[in-house]
Amino acid sequence: MYYNENSVVFHNGEFKNPKDVLLETYGQTLHYGNGVFEGVRAYKTKNGTRIFRAEDHYKRLKYGADVMGIPFNYSVEELVKLTYQLLEKNNLEDAYIRPLITAGADMSLRTSSEANLTIQCWAWGKYMGDKLLRVKTSSFERPNPKSCFVDAKITGHYTNSILATNEAKSAGFDEALLLDMHGNVAECSGANVFMEKDGKLYTPKKGNIMPGITRQTVMQICKDEGISVEEKLFTIDEFKNADSAFFTGTAAEVVGLESIDDYKFPKAFETTFGAKLMKLYQDEVLEQRQKQTQNA
Ligand code: PMP
Repeated sequence: MYYNENSVVFHNGEFKNPKDVLLETYGQTLHYGNGVFEGVRAYKTKNGTRIFRAEDHYKRLKYGADVMGIPFNYSVEELVKLTYQLLEKNNLEDAYIRPLITAGADMSLRTSSEANLTIQCWAWGKYMGDKLLRVKTSSFERPNPKSCFVDAKITGHYTNSILATNEAKSAGFDEALLLDMHGNVAECSGANVFMEKDGKLYTPKKGNIMPGITRQTVMQICKDEGISVEEKLFTIDEFKNADSAFFTGTAAEVVGLESIDDYKFPKAFETTFGAKLMKLYQDEVLEQRQKQTQNA
């Protein structure tokens, strides 16, 4: 599904078939989860293939390497250029792109002095599909922001996301919603969350979440469109009183929720801000949005 004999990945300065890439068996990423990655999308637009907010994704990748002390010297400009070359070598126009920095061989708990860069890409539909999601409140909390840098995409952090997703799916749900250590709604295992209540949107404020690039894009669209959004903490009980809700993420894009646990969101999804933003987000990534400036 991800690659075949014709696929090309970028690895440490070379374009190769994924089968020819050797990742370090003694590496810290494999043993301790000390690596950094990104999830980026490219879209076929009327102006050609465009990597959506490529610079912001690579800035976040570099931020992750920085906070983990992984020496990583590529510039954002180089990374963007390499990624366009990679898409071309794979003949991909609509694609999901996965840059990954792995730390070198070192069994100590000091960050290795060596870093490797691998960039992979493949054709990938909407990660959570198009249907409204039935979501379960997870028994797993998001990591305490004093335990790690929750705003960086560090490989090891995703064991938390895997536990929550496994739990939700095993119980017959589509996805998990995780709370923070104080019981406030935080985010989905790989996406941010918004709720609509009485004509206004709310999304958890920064601090205990991975503040996504899609979340930021959606908030900018709301500003342009005169849709009011407030960033604030709210509890799961408040969430279960919302009119509607949706998730945002690069892989998931904008996807609506049908229910949380046994609470069904009462507003018909097609009449919600979520449905409107789903469409406007598509227009934005395809570079065909007619910009409004009512509230800018
Ligand atoms: N939260 C988590 C935990 C994630 O893994 C992601 C996906 N990167 C997001 C939120 C959404 O981030 P973005 O919109 O930048 O993809």
